[in-house]
Amino acid sequence: MTQVYNFSAGPAVLPKEVLKQAADEMLDWHGSGMSVMEMSHRGKEFISIYEAAERDLRDLLDVPANYKVLFLQGGGIGENAIVPMNLVGRKTQPAVVDFIHTGSWSGKSIKEAKKYCTVNVAASSEKQKFSAIPPRDTWKLSKDAAYVHVCTNETIDGVEFQYTPDVNADTGNAPLVADMSSHILSRPVDVSKYGVIFGGAQKNIGPAGVTLAIIREDLIGHALSICPSAFDWKLVAENHSMYNTPPTYAIYIAGLVFQWLKKQGGIAAMEQRNIAKAALLYDYLDSTGFYRNDIAKDCRSRMNVPFFLNDESLNDAFLAGAKERGLLQLKGHKSVGGMRASIYNAMPFEGVQALVDYLKDFEKKSG
Ligand code: PMP
Repeated sequence: MTQVYNFSAGPAVLPKEVLKQAADEMLDWHGSGMSVMEMSHRGKEFISIYEAAERDLRDLLDVPANYKVLFLQGGGIGENAIVPMNLVGRKTQPAVVDFIHTGSWSGKSIKEAKKYCTVNVAASSEKQKFSAIPPRDTWKLSKDAAYVHVCTNETIDGVEFQYTPDVNADTGNAPLVADMSSHILSRPVDVSKYGVIFGGAQKNIGPAGVTLAIIREDLIGHALSICPSAFDWKLVAENHSMYNTPPTYAIYIAGLVFQWLKKQGGIAAMEQRNIAKAALLYDYLDSTGFYRNDIAKDCRSRMNVPFFLNDESLNDAFLAGAKERGLLQLKGHKSVGGMRASIYNAMPFEGVQALVDYLKDFEKKSG
């Protein structure tokens, strides 16, 4: 098989070991005579897969006992509606929700939330073209917000929170809600500092189709009457994510990824590898006048590295040459242009090294 390195932002590279195990188990899972895809979600085989996945995730993220872990559908975009529908009911209507606008994904969350609440954009880096995260002491949070929303890693813009913002003092304990779609499980987080953490799976968790939500228990049970039952966290939690048929195969693969992460030494070990990979790439980009990354150094994403060739007329040649070397999906998002390398947990150090080698060679050839 040709060795390629896939830098896609998502769906994205998965660990080879996980794909091999899934292939081996495809037709006959553990002697059951069935593929996981064929199993009833209520049968003992799938229940055991589900329970192991939840247990391993709780171990990896050290999820406190007063948090529920839900496996939902609808993706990150679905959560943009599901979160307000489940949380604004705790306040008199219309409730106010605070948003920190740090890029495309928090922007999409703001747009959707406006259907369900009064949005207060408490801070925004839009004027700086989302090249930095507004410092915490500039945020204008509301006194009585239903919650504060942050996107802790902006997949398109390449900015990442390097800390957990404390919002309690200003808001009277509004829960912090974080869209962690594109960096969940890449670094340790203190779950107890969040009210809700959510993320689509197709970057660091597994295949598209399952959405993870980790929710503090007291925030469950307040859904607006318009909230579809399948997205009412109370019903989903009471039914162990099986109020409707869950995306069983995606949950199975996510479970294998969790086992793989444990074998790698867990999230703290993963973080060290991610720091090393990101440093290798950023250090090279910063050392040349040929390429550049425009993000403030203390906000740079370890997962999604957008970069530009100073001479943009070389973009097509750059991408064609990369493809010849098996370096795939490096084209930047259409809204920002340029290039983007997504280097999630499953991207090995050698993949980033191969990319840096190519950056050097292309520069030598064209510079
Ligand atoms: N939030 C973030 C940070 C994302 O990166 C994405 C997808 N790239 C989404 C939300 C939307 O996810 P989905 O397409 O699964 O709805």
